[in-house]
Amino acid sequence: MAAQIRSYWRNFIDGAWVDSSDGRTIPVTDPATGRIITEVACGGAAEIDMAVTAARRCFESRRLQLMTPASRGELMFAIAEQLDLLADEIAEVEIQDNGKTRAGGYNEVKLTQRYLRYYGGMADKLEGRQIPLGDGIVDYTVHMPYGVSAQIVPWNGPLPVGARSIACALITGNTVALKSPEDSPLSLFLLAEACERASVPKGAVNIVCGYGREAGAALVGHKDIDHIVFTGSVETGKSVLRAAAERVIPCVMELGGKSAAIVYADADLDNAARNITRGILHHSGQICSAASRLVVHRSIASALVKKIKAEAARRTVGPGVDGCDMGPVISERQLSRIEALCDAGVAEGATLEMGGKRLDREGYFLPPTIFTNVSPDMRIAQEEFFGPVLVVIPFDTPEEAVAIANGTDYGLAAGIFTRDLKLTLWTADRLVAGQVYVNDWWVGGVETPFGGARRSGYGREKGQEALLGYVQTKNVGIRL
Ligand code: NAD
Repeated sequence: MAAQIRSYWRNFIDGAWVDSSDGRTIPVTDPATGRIITEVACGGAAEIDMAVTAARRCFESRRLQLMTPASRGELMFAIAEQLDLLADEIAEVEIQDNGKTRAGGYNEVKLTQRYLRYYGGMADKLEGRQIPLGDGIVDYTVHMPYGVSAQIVPWNGPLPVGARSIACALITGNTVALKSPEDSPLSLFLLAEACERASVPKGAVNIVCGYGREAGAALVGHKDIDHIVFTGSVETGKSVLRAAAERVIPCVMELGGKSAAIVYADADLDNAARNITRGILHHSGQICSAASRLVVHRSIASALVKKIKAEAARRTVGPGVDGCDMGPVISERQLSRIEALCDAGVAEGATLEMGGKRLDREGYFLPPTIFTNVSPDMRIAQEEFFGPVLVVIPFDTPEEAVAIANGTDYGLAAGIFTRDLKLTLWTADRLVAGQVYVNDWWVGGVETPFGGARRSGYGREKGQEALLGYVQTKNVGIRL
């Protein structure tokens, strides 16, 4: 039987469940119906202050730093184990709060556990260097935590995105004040519950839900934070960076994308069609690294588009509770924004091959949407939809393909489909993107570094590289 969604949720501050000090709540809507399903206590500047103060107190107590690295790692394993007990509730929450499919809901739990166990296992492997300076001197480096890590998470994958940042912070000895997204806040409260049950020290993890311009701005502008991890849009990212600049706070910025899949004429078209369809329709395209632009050799463009249309048409679109393959987008605001950009594409002269208009039913459903006859300078080829919309741009030469792929402000991911290894290496070398997938989309995951170039951000999450964003190097030189 599906788990029930609780009727009210509180913020998790200093190990306790806390109401909003002014009694405000945020209604939580099921995007598959547009109906309110529950409410959460609305965190404002007061709750953010309490969260940062608790995180600061815990950091200054050195509770985490005094634990052995292995024990900090074991804490991550314990949180992961607790998530097993909450898995059904998390999956249900992800379906109803976030619009995920049933498989997608359970996958969020598994992915989150993978992050916790991966970084838990790494806690005792982050080593410094010994630097030889000659007779009579010992010199070594240590990785020092920053202090209070302020983390801001988007609504599309709050649980794994939040968990990986929390895990990196805790195993390196930082403490966390995290703002969960107002559009899908629930799963992170269940992560907080897992932290509580796993006896994570009070104040080490604080999770507050509030509106971005209020709670988010209060968090990144708080005088007592030492570090920012932001995942979200470029526009919000810029305002976060302005706040960080005021106090010279280091940031990890994971921003948007407009990632291109280049398909050369010799590619296995069935494989390309399968992967690109999955790459743009997974979670209704609400993935920063979605395969949102198809850059295809002119000679195979119509054959490939035909295959992608057939793949896309096989997807059932509807609520995750009904077992559909593709759910809604998160909100009316987001759906209207995507539709308006589709209208702009038609007005600019692109050909709408399928989709482009919301389904005539309750909830916020946009069917798979494909545009052809797209030129690289059109708005639909430059702006992020963050929805199930693929734009198809033809090319004639590899140089042109690379120029188109690199021709946006973003640089998050890119794909190459070809059987030619030399061409693969030539192309991969020239793509400006944090990750390049070859003959697949989303090769790797937890273990592989992930992040952006250009306006897609900087710093890396995932993989061993992520940890370097959570520590600063201290050099100790001793004259004996
Ligand atoms: P958003 O920028 O609107 O919001 C992200 C978070 O920032 C939310 O929690 C929001 O409440 C908060 N926020 C809003 N205004 C703020 C402010 N002034 N100060 C501080 N915080 C503020 O983004 P979104 O619509 O929630 O998410 C979609 C975007 O996130 C897309 O652009 C997507 O590509 C990007 N994203 C990137 C990655 C990545 O890893 N690169 C992953 C997921 C999503």
